[in-house]
Amino acid sequence: MPIRFFNTLSREIEDFTPIAPPLVKMYTCGPTVYNFAHIGNFRAYIFEDLLQRHLEGRGYQVHRVMNITDVDDKTIRNSRAAAQPLDQFTRTFKDSFFEDLRTLRIQPAADFPAATEPRYIERMIEMIQQLEHHGIAYQADDRSLYFRLSRFPDYGKLAHLDLDKLRPTGRVRNDDYEKENIGDFALWKAWDQADGDIAWDSPWGRGRPGWHIECSAMANAILGPELDIHCGGVDNIFPHHEAEIAQSESCTGKKFVRYWLHCAHLMVQGQKMAKSAGNFYTLRDLTAQGWTGREIRHTLISVNYRLPLNFTFDGLTAARAALARIDEWATRLTTLAAAENRASLHPLATSTLFQDALDDDLNISGALGHLFDTLRESNRLMDQGAFTPADARALINWWRNINQLLALDPDPSAIPDNIQSLLEARAHARAQKDWLASDTLRDTLLAQGWEVKDTKDGQRLTPRP
Ligand code: AMP
Ligand code: ZN
Repeated sequence: MPIRFFNTLSREIEDFTPIAPPLVKMYTCGPTVYNFAHIGNFRAYIFEDLLQRHLEGRGYQVHRVMNITDVDDKTIRNSRAAAQPLDQFTRTFKDSFFEDLRTLRIQPAADFPAATEPRYIERMIEMIQQLEHHGIAYQADDRSLYFRLSRFPDYGKLAHLDLDKLRPTGRVRNDDYEKENIGDFALWKAWDQADGDIAWDSPWGRGRPGWHIECSAMANAILGPELDIHCGGVDNIFPHHEAEIAQSESCTGKKFVRYWLHCAHLMVQGQKMAKSAGNFYTLRDLTAQGWTGREIRHTLISVNYRLPLNFTFDGLTAARAALARIDEWATRLTTLAAAENRASLHPLATSTLFQDALDDDLNISGALGHLFDTLRESNRLMDQGAFTPADARALINWWRNINQLLALDPDPSAIPDNIQSLLEARAHARAQKDWLASDTLRDTLLAQGWEVKDTKDGQRLTPRP
């Protein structure tokens, strides 16, 4: 079966055929660094991470670019409120963003261009000049440059807007706006007092770029005029991605993007998680409460990207339980497989159903369903003594391949040294049949937040729920 994706542009599931396989050029809108990213943002980045890992698993070479928006209305407003220079202000949030990516095991993009880098500002100015040359960009009375919507008949195609029914309400200078305010949008914003010392020289005087031209220019500078995949959250479709298409295609005359993939929102009690709504959790909020990056990753990855995902603490608890099941199963297989090198072609270990599900528009819930079926079935066979060490070894290798996509292996530091020592002491006591010492050690472990259970494969340790 070919890989297939739902393309926001056509609203259809399409076979995936990149322009020049095995290369896949992928652009993903990154964070606006005016605050810590919240876990809703990370849902989008984890979906993109799974997409990249799956394409790589299928033999593609993915060149992924993720931009950093370090100048726009919000970064300027907040840096001024904090009385800090813009670059110093955004540095804090850039650094913590990269730290959060590591915590969530998100593979770094090949490039992380930042909008304020001089070469990209230059590219933005060049593109606006090209648009001006074609009569598409014009300078208005406020000295800012705007995109003339009437010159791009395809505007609205991505968001499926019927422009005849929406009456343009005039020019919009804000980076973000609603469909009701459709109008010529800002490409270059002439300096005004609210910008403080944030300004670059341009042929039109001092000013700064609009948010949309930033992405068009960075994508073009690094990946060229034609991309295979462009991603973001659904809130990026309008106006941001619509504007990117208008700018890029008007400059290059080429189709900007083949496949537009957008992930649905992370919700809290029926509402989109958003900084503006005040209903958000940052990664730090959750790790401070004892949740691990791995547990949060599992929570965010486990629902198909086009379905809204409701964030709850019960969901995190369920992720913890699912991971404990996987860990227990992997340990059991490893124990059984010890000292066995023969090959096995057990059907469980040669199945590609997990990857096949992902081929189908990244159907992760189908894929995880298959993983847990495999867990159940192989545990049953092990209970019956009907699974050989060679089968176990083959299945571990199968799991390793799948885990290249999921990245859910246990944290190496998950069990602190002192807990590990207590566990070993207890194993020793049990080998000596010193049940009193064994029970005392179990209570000590429990008091320190770790529950130990005795299974026929040995002790099993889990953090106390
Ligand atoms: P921003 O920093 O607001 O530009 O957002 C960065 C990325 O996170 C964009 O791709 C957004 O579409 C995405 N995003 C923002 N809020 C959510 C949410 N609640 N759920 C999923 N994705 C989101
Ligand atoms: Zn963007």
